[in-house]
Amino acid sequence: GMTAHPFDAPASQALLERALAVTPGGVNSPVRAFRAVGGTPRFMASGTGPYLTDVDGREYVDLVCSWGPMILGHGHPAVVEAVSAAVSQGFSFGTPSENEVALGEEIVARVEPVGQVRLVSSGTEATMSAIRLARGYTGRSLIVKFAGCYHGHVDSLLAQAGSGVATFALPDSAGVPKEMAAETIVLPFNDLAAVEEAFAARGSEIAAIITEASPGNMGVVPPAPGFTEGLRRITAAHGALLISDEVMTGFRCSAAGWYGLEGPYAAGAPDLFTFGKVMGGGFPAAAFGGRADVMALLAPVGPVYQAGTLSGNPVATAAGRATLQQCTPELYARLDEVADAITGALDTELGRAGVPHTIQRAGSMFSVFFRDGAVGNYDQARDQHVPAFAAFFHSMLSQGVYLPPSAFESWFVSGAHDDAAVDRIVSALPAAASAAAES
Ligand code: PMP
Repeated sequence: GMTAHPFDAPASQALLERALAVTPGGVNSPVRAFRAVGGTPRFMASGTGPYLTDVDGREYVDLVCSWGPMILGHGHPAVVEAVSAAVSQGFSFGTPSENEVALGEEIVARVEPVGQVRLVSSGTEATMSAIRLARGYTGRSLIVKFAGCYHGHVDSLLAQAGSGVATFALPDSAGVPKEMAAETIVLPFNDLAAVEEAFAARGSEIAAIITEASPGNMGVVPPAPGFTEGLRRITAAHGALLISDEVMTGFRCSAAGWYGLEGPYAAGAPDLFTFGKVMGGGFPAAAFGGRADVMALLAPVGPVYQAGTLSGNPVATAAGRATLQQCTPELYARLDEVADAITGALDTELGRAGVPHTIQRAGSMFSVFFRDGAVGNYDQARDQHVPAFAAFFHSMLSQGVYLPPSAFESWFVSGAHDDAAVDRIVSALPAAASAAAES
């Protein structure tokens, strides 16, 4: 066989080869394949606190946190206990059960404008259902989205999307009928004039604007002051709904998500919100919710159909509820502290190595763009030196730090990231910054 490079991952490579035989690209979600950074995707065997261990037995400080859900770190005892208790009562009933009510109550209690919620199993289902509901409520078809925002792999929301679509520089997806793509108007983020113009032209046909509350899928690009407020004002003036996608930011940026940091808005709250990730605690649970009069259009009360065999699953909802109960002010203070420490050191080391960079934050979410100057939209996010990211990523990986394998994703921290874990990250930065400088 081949001689093992110190950073080779033979057990991961063997699993990848098995995986390639049974699934496209060897992965069940595209960004996991490492196509943007090269090398062997690491197959993880276990996670504890802030650490992941791969099948080769190497340990990494985890800065992906399952792309957001693991806000308490891996295997938090309170969540393990809640899940074990739920499992011991059965896995799925196909009937209403108490855990889903309790999770719904937690969500409604935290996000003031959310009067009612409906639980689903993924963020994609949440946004898909929210736009159907907005169309049902308004009797209109058009949806406005922003370039670089990702709302899951919903047909009509894949146009100029972020996340994996950005990672692979795809304009949109094959398989989406052009009639459906024509129902989506894509505008530049943070550009209220473009929104005004679109509504002046077609306002009476627009059902909703959907926006990431604070985008994390083109890297972290917070809304400019007044942008969200402007969206609220414009949609209200034209009888369209505003859907705030908080799948990533919900219960992460604060107890009430991005809304908790930026809201309430003088022009009024978004009509609908979507949630996922943190509220499932690492299990498949997501939700959409908002104004009770809009939610009342959902079946069985109203004419907009939406359903799911595993919706409100008792184990997933137990995990989500236990996770939210640990999301205290102390937790958010710690997440901010960890993000401060990492972004501070990152800025110092990239600066010392002479690497052009801009670090952006939304609560404890952050990412680095390998360019000078603030990033306010997708065109600016793409205008960076992506090879510097790949070099940086591989240096960090070889030093035991697991970053998102793409320059267009947020980094996520957890309450389990103690000082020892932060130190490991910080001490890996000088070599990674040098690697980026040489790319
Ligand atoms: N909306 C946003 C803002 C997201 O970040 C994501 C997932 N990264 C989704 C929707 C889709 O969620 P899921 O992957 O659970 O379908």
